[in-house]
Amino acid sequence: MLEDKTPQRTPLSQLGEFGLISHLTKNFDVKQPSTLKSIGDDAAVLDFKGKRTVVSTDLLIEGVHFDLSYMPLKHLGYKAVVVNLSDIAAMNAKPTQITVSIAVSNRFPLEALEELFEGIAMAAKIYKVDVVGGDTTSSQKGMIISITALGEADEKDLVYRNGARENDLLVVTGDLGSAYMGLQVLEREKQVFQVNPNNQPDLDNYTYLIERQLKPEARTDIRELLEKLEVKPTAMIDVSDGLSSEIIHICKQSKVGCNLFEEKIPIDPQFINVCEEFNIDSTTVAINGGEDYELLFTIALEDFDKIKANPNFTVIGHMTQESEGAHLVTRANTKIPLKARGWDALSQ
Ligand SMILES: [Mg+2]
Repeated sequence: MLEDKTPQRTPLSQLGEFGLISHLTKNFDVKQPSTLKSIGDDAAVLDFKGKRTVVSTDLLIEGVHFDLSYMPLKHLGYKAVVVNLSDIAAMNAKPTQITVSIAVSNRFPLEALEELFEGIAMAAKIYKVDVVGGDTTSSQKGMIISITALGEADEKDLVYRNGARENDLLVVTGDLGSAYMGLQVLEREKQVFQVNPNNQPDLDNYTYLIERQLKPEARTDIRELLEKLEVKPTAMIDVSDGLSSEIIHICKQSKVGCNLFEEKIPIDPQFINVCEEFNIDSTTVAINGGEDYELLFTIALEDFDKIKANPNFTVIGHMTQESEGAHLVTRANTKIPLKARGWDALSQ
């Protein structure tokens, strides 16, 4: 489906492991004051100077988490970084460093890894994080990427999943569901291409959805925005597995219930059109589709005035007593219990 952008094929064996690492990491410069020693010794040395350190890690496996037939390697590198930074943002912390470990089979030449690292370097530059270490090794089959992200925060600023209280408002950033529908479009085009390789996909009507799937962004901007508005969330999580699952995580850990209002869920017009085209209920996708990497948080009711005029935020519900449970309140005003299905449940 994607044209071969790497006609030159330099076998990895030509460089050796150490040559490969120094080749791929030569452009990583240090930006964070907390990075005392980056790549080049046995370990990186970091100094967070009395701040709390947050750590999150993620493992991505070809064929399970990504499909290289429609995921360009540069985008994959970018997304692999972003999904980790999203977890740091969900703690209300500032991402500062990442480590990158990859395993590849001999199917991948040097040029493919250069493309992957171009995406990693681009994300590191945009989000101002230092790449301070990692590992490169061979795999029997396919590509495996593991990224660990570190971040810093003052203890008083950290936000956990367990701080939501009854009557708090439930707020989400951006819009939901588009990344999942982007994946559906790409999967459909892949099947069309497999039947007829001469059939070039026309993706003009799907640009936003595809971008949400292939090049998501982490909402690292929200921490500063909330600080400026003088709002500290009572609980927070990022939307990686789907709104419904994330709400249930907050409810369980905070021991509260929730009413989520269908009519309030923010969705994009292109998303609505494509749901109609695929004959899928848009609310079902918006609450169960994953990989949006928006932030979901709760705030005290008295903070509503501070966020209500901001286009980044939508109030989608409120927290209740734990005994009331977590529900979707539909447009017809019926209550449906929320289920933690996760994003892959829709495709089963
Ligand atoms: Mg998360």
